[in-house]
Amino acid sequence: MTFASLGLIEPLLRSLETLGYQTPTPVQAQAIPAVLAGRDLMAAAQTGTGKTAGFALPLLQLLAMEGPKVASNSVRALILVPTRELAEQVHEAVRQYAENLPLSTYAVYGGVSINPQMMKLRKGVDVLVATPGRLLDLYRQKALKFNQLQTLILDEADRMLDLGFSEELGNIYRVLPKQRQTLLFSATFSDAIRLLAGQMLNDPLSIEVSPRNVAASTVKQWVVVVDKKRKPELFVHLMRKGKWKQVLVFAKTRNGVDALVEKLQGLGINADGIHGDKPQATRQRALDRFKASEVQILVATDVAARGLDIEDLPLVVNFDLPIVAEDYIHRIGRTGRAGATGQAISLVCADEVNLLSAIETLTRQTLPRQMEHDFEPEHRVPDTDASGQVVKKPKKPKKPKTSSGGKRNLGKWVESGDASAPEPSIKPVRKVPVFNTGPRKKKP
Ligand code: AMP
Repeated sequence: MTFASLGLIEPLLRSLETLGYQTPTPVQAQAIPAVLAGRDLMAAAQTGTGKTAGFALPLLQLLAMEGPKVASNSVRALILVPTRELAEQVHEAVRQYAENLPLSTYAVYGGVSINPQMMKLRKGVDVLVATPGRLLDLYRQKALKFNQLQTLILDEADRMLDLGFSEELGNIYRVLPKQRQTLLFSATFSDAIRLLAGQMLNDPLSIEVSPRNVAASTVKQWVVVVDKKRKPELFVHLMRKGKWKQVLVFAKTRNGVDALVEKLQGLGINADGIHGDKPQATRQRALDRFKASEVQILVATDVAARGLDIEDLPLVVNFDLPIVAEDYIHRIGRTGRAGATGQAISLVCADEVNLLSAIETLTRQTLPRQMEHDFEPEHRVPDTDASGQVVKKPKKPKKPKTSSGGKRNLGKWVESGDASAPEPSIKPVRKVPVFNTGPRKKKP
């Protein structure tokens, strides 16, 4: 199959040739003809599957071939994304695909000054990529009108709900024209997402692409068990032993990111961190420097790193396991992309056994374990498997104290019930969106 056989026009084919895309990915093969035919879409696909081109290519083609010139402060297509980094990334992809077309594109998001964005919108924009909060601000300040809007795309819809954007989505939905094409992309389909889809989509075509990074053998995954307090030391040891050149590291909390970065920098290691407390410009600069290989280790929280596409990233390290098992798939999806091979290593302590078990159940695999010499944990991490069971073993009988009264720690058995789940940095907010939709007419 070729991109030409999917019905894409020559200016887009030229852009794809420049980018070196030869064959459509499964999500592209399904989405492109459907979007060109004007269908609404509900697609279960995550980052790494090529979904951005799956919606952006046909969108650009429709905008180039039909509809009026964009009026001032207007927008013809809106792509909503959960995070600022994703807004930049999606916009960059759209800009590249649109290289040979007379269409304007732009990205707006919070954390930066709104005035330049208002100025830029004056002329109108064909494709606007936006985070929900800033989009509403711009609308309320009359910098944006939606009467020319013909397509709405919700990218990473599940993440938008997780981050508590359901109210913003409802408010945006209310001010959009009822006649439009709507495409919804989500990694998972919870009840809340299905409800959202039911309200926003009109007779959608459903597309499901298996999570490539779970099924594919391109990402080699394993676990190194260790005591919690020795994780930083183990990380540095593994880094030196494996001569790691470029690593994306995930930590659970903002403090965790800062502490690890500080520790690494203190050892003269070229590391930087991104999390939600940092100003947008700082986050973007760290990311750009990491992409340009000017930073060797980038430590991030899930919020900051969701959906990021970093070319040829060889290694992802889970310094902490994610609270939400699905995030594991997103994290390891940063490596082994577009056919490349990658590695994903998780440093797991006894406290995290239930999180490990949830990941193994979700990904239907038991992650191979390793123990590093000199880092054998005192607090044993109980066995787990893909059935969701934490394999309980009987407690070892306590050894009698030595006559010298020595209190050498002989290792503690941690049963599943003992593993106290750490506090999440972001609590998933699965608010069910409640907004009055009324009947919607299909675009003629
Ligand atoms: P996405 O899932 O949209 O974030 O895309 C993941 C990565 O795959 C991006 O770096 C894209 O540039 C790349 N990509 C998307 N489609 C193709 C394709 N058909 N051939 C080669 N690379 C692709």
